[in-house]
Amino acid sequence: RLEIRNLVARFAGRTVVDDVSLTVQAGQVTCLLGPSGCGKSTTLRMIAGVEMQTSGEIYVDGKLICDTVFRVPPERREIGLMFQDFALFPHLSVADNVAFGLKGSKEQKRARVEELLTKVDLMRFIDGFPHQLSGGEQQRVALARALAPRPRIMLMDEPFSGLDNRLRDGIRDETLAVLKEEDAAVLLVTHEPDEAMRMADEIALMRRGKIVQQGAPYNVYTRPADKAAVAFFSDVN
Ligand code: ATP
Ligand code: MG
Repeated sequence: RLEIRNLVARFAGRTVVDDVSLTVQAGQVTCLLGPSGCGKSTTLRMIAGVEMQTSGEIYVDGKLICDTVFRVPPERREIGLMFQDFALFPHLSVADNVAFGLKGSKEQKRARVEELLTKVDLMRFIDGFPHQLSGGEQQRVALARALAPRPRIMLMDEPFSGLDNRLRDGIRDETLAVLKEEDAAVLLVTHEPDEAMRMADEIALMRRGKIVQQGAPYNVYTRPADKAAVAFFSDVN
C-alpha cells in the first residue's frame, strides 16, 4: 500500500505540487490524470525518491519512507519504475535486462526471469537483445524488469505513450493483468482520459498541482466535479 500525505513541491517559489494526499491499495491501480504541466511526473519523482519534496510524507505498507528529515534512499524503497524514457540496456540480453536488479543465486534469478517472461509472453526472446524486439515487446520486457524484484509499489509515467495506437490497447490489457497478478500498488500517470478509464480502479484528477476530484472511473466520468473536468473528459471515446 502506498500512502502520500500533504505532499508539496516548490521550485523557486512556484508551487508545482500543492498538498497532494492519496492512498493506493495493493492490487489496485490509481491513475493520476491531468493536463500537461499539472505536476504528475513531479509527484511520481518524489515518491521514487529522485526529487525531494518541500513538505509532506510518503509511506509504503504503513512504514514512513520519506519526510523532510528522514529519507530512505531510492534503491531501498521497494518501488518499481516504468517511465516513458526508461529504456532497456541495449548491450544486455533480454534475460539480463530482467535480472538486472535481482539478488540471490543464479538459479533463483533465472527462475524469476523465466516466470516473468512467461507472464509477458516473451520466453522466445529470452536470449535476444533489445534491438531485435518491437516497441511493444520492449515495453513488456521493461514491465518484466520493473516487476522482477517484487516491488510493493509500481510507478508508471505514461508508459504507453511511445506505442502506436494499434498496439496500445492490447499492451494496456496485458500489463494490467500482470500487475494484478503481482499484487503491487500501482500509480499510473497519464494525460489520456481514455487510458485512465480503461486501466484505473480509481482516478485522481489533477490540475495545477492539486487533486480536484477522486473516485471510481465511472463516477468521475459521469459526475465530473466542475466544468474543467467535463472539458477534460470530453475527448474520451
Ligand atoms: P506532462 O503531462 O507534460 O508530463 P506533468 O504533469 O508531468 O506534465 P511535471 O513534469 O510534474 O508536469 O511539471 C510540473 C511543473 O513543474 C512544470 O511547469 C515544470 O516546469 C515544473 N518543474 C518540474 N520539475 C522542476 C524542477 N526540478 N525545477 C523547476 N521546475 C520544475
Ligand atoms: Mg510528466
